[in-house]
Amino acid sequence: MKDDTVVKMKLFNNKKSNGVHPTENKLSSHKKIESTGLPKEVTLPLCQHIGAPAQAIVKRGDEVKTGQKIAEACGFVSVPIHSTVSGKVKKITKTVSAVTSRVMEAVVIESDGKDEWVELNKPAHPGTLSKEEIIERIKEAGIVGLGGATFPTHVKLQPPPDKPIDSIIINGCECEPYITSDHRLMLEHGEEILKGLEIMMNVIGCKRAYIAIEDNKPDAVRNMKELLSKDKYPGKITVESLGTQYPLGAEKTLLKRILGREVPVGCLPMEVGVVVQNVGTLKALYDAIYLGKPLVERVVTVTGMVKEPKNLLSRFGRPAKELIDMCGGIVGDADELIFGGPMMGVTQPRFDEPTQRGTNSILVKKSEKVPESNCIRCGACVESCPMNLMPTVYVQFTKNEWYEELEDYWIENCVECGSCAYSCPANIPLVQYIKVGKSELAKLRCK
Ligand code: SF4
Ligand code: SF4
Repeated sequence: MKDDTVVKMKLFNNKKSNGVHPTENKLSSHKKIESTGLPKEVTLPLCQHIGAPAQAIVKRGDEVKTGQKIAEACGFVSVPIHSTVSGKVKKITKTVSAVTSRVMEAVVIESDGKDEWVELNKPAHPGTLSKEEIIERIKEAGIVGLGGATFPTHVKLQPPPDKPIDSIIINGCECEPYITSDHRLMLEHGEEILKGLEIMMNVIGCKRAYIAIEDNKPDAVRNMKELLSKDKYPGKITVESLGTQYPLGAEKTLLKRILGREVPVGCLPMEVGVVVQNVGTLKALYDAIYLGKPLVERVVTVTGMVKEPKNLLSRFGRPAKELIDMCGGIVGDADELIFGGPMMGVTQPRFDEPTQRGTNSILVKKSEKVPESNCIRCGACVESCPMNLMPTVYVQFTKNEWYEELEDYWIENCVECGSCAYSCPANIPLVQYIKVGKSELAKLRCK
């Protein structure tokens, strides 16, 4: 690290924690999770997670069952993919990732409408499984972070021996506007979430956990507290009701707010003895260990300009348009589909794009084409940045192709939350510049 970098780091670390307050628009917070019928066809990309893509182990014409593995993990940071319906493999094709824009293989499966499952590997006594057996089952079930990051969970459960974990933070903040899938899970599946947490604490050997929930979800705070009062871990797990502010749910922001610890640039929370996990992931972990179920479905909030916003339990690979139709269809002149929320979500090229493991929400909206104007040096972007960074500098450096300089300004610490762009009166698409800058910097490092 350069000397002047240390000086800058001290300067910016003195700042208070920032963020913004976008309109919440939690249109579906009161809507119970609804099951959806079987999709007729699913398209399952082989990389729905961070890490190496899985490798197909089925071919065109193969008969498959629901929950059957169709692609094998390739390496430590990778997970398998399972069929989400029973039926026949129609084709193996190429698709563009809805999240990373990378070209990858996808398996298309035609449902036979029967939903015949593989025999589930349900343990007779989950409590007697060894740590190694639990980790193996979690990997084989394809569990990844369901808050949107899709980091393989078995990796988080195996920190290096020189990085002992003393605390687990369960992220129930759901700070993005519109999204309510985690909120509903905490109301309707709180017990499974706590059992998932218990498994996680035992595997990691960690004795302290915090369940973080924004105070705009008082019913979820109440429910989790009530369930904990019956829990056999008195004092070891607490519910933290936190003042609502975007992006509180970003791992590093949350960690700083609850434990006051700063994660060094370019490092994971395990560097400071913490693992952060989303509530949806804990429910999936419960399903994998107690029921022997692989990850084939999740709760998706379908919201925005649809007739009736809902929280739907849907199999992966189903076209988004089908879920929108289950909510009464599009209203008004909406022309944009986003997977995720309005702040960090990714605009999709088509309304029939298949949902994936990281798709916590489908947001339908009217696109806004506001022209970018010149920076007026107001500093609003710097003020709003939760990571105490200088977004305006990233724009300047990226425009001038000074990519190496970005490293000195800790661009790696940017969580791409969009608070800077939200605050910018000049409508500068700061996050897009930041993404280009990060990607060009990564290319330079590979040379
Ligand atoms: S996108 Fe990055 S630079 Fe912008 S506010 Fe968020 S963390 Fe800061
Ligand atoms: S908020 Fe926009 S206009 Fe203001 S300093 Fe940042 S980039 Fe410039």
